[in-house]
Amino acid sequence: MKLSICHLYPDVLNLYGDTGNILCLKKRLEWRGIGCEVTPLPIGAKADLARFDLFFIGGGQDFEQEVLLADLHGGKDRALRSAVEDEKVFLCICGGYQMMGQYYRTHTGEQLDFIGALDFHTVGSDLRMIGNYMFTCSEKNGASTVVGFENHSGKTFLGDGVSPLGKVVSGYGNNGEDGTEGARYKNVFGAYCHGPMLPKNPAFADLILQTALSRRYPGAALPQRDDSLERRAHDYMANRLARTN
Ligand code: GLN
Repeated sequence: MKLSICHLYPDVLNLYGDTGNILCLKKRLEWRGIGCEVTPLPIGAKADLARFDLFFIGGGQDFEQEVLLADLHGGKDRALRSAVEDEKVFLCICGGYQMMGQYYRTHTGEQLDFIGALDFHTVGSDLRMIGNYMFTCSEKNGASTVVGFENHSGKTFLGDGVSPLGKVVSGYGNNGEDGTEGARYKNVFGAYCHGPMLPKNPAFADLILQTALSRRYPGAALPQRDDSLERRAHDYMANRLARTN
């Protein structure tokens, strides 16, 4: 078995160690004897997006999000929308998560039209939502508790066709108002979670991998592994945040 991963815009969307998610996915597959091919797709690069099983998009500031717009609207937007509808798996972080929605109106009033693969939009605010945070995934998203770091001024509001990834336990999440964090639509997982997200959240990392594996090889199960070291890192942060909450 083998999974093909597309790392979209690694040149401009990589904040707070986001690329560590790629290393983590690769390693967790290797530990299970499952092959993995990672294709970086920077601005200007072309590839047949239909051949990938899993897409990863990291975060970036407003400036970087604006820089990639021309490339995005040069055809990748359409290809990404069809990959989403085709139930390919996406993990999208912060600026990369915002990019999957309809638009982002920055705090200076500029409107960045994104790809509208998911029914949500983001509005910049004067509030910088920054700090370590924690949320609990809904049942549908594995029910694990995720710890990480958020830093955004954009407030994301979900439309009717999209459900949140989970509920904020500590921190801000989507908008600091409605207690939701992230988005799930088909096999797209979006979150504000930097850090990087996956190394210290092994249950969530395996949810991403299992979803991609099931999509590519129906019936295939990801073998269990001993995650005690990763869980210690997770629990340390979770306990710290629970205390300060
Ligand atoms: N520019 C976006 C915001 O501030 C995303 C930031 C990020 O990716 N950390 O909302």
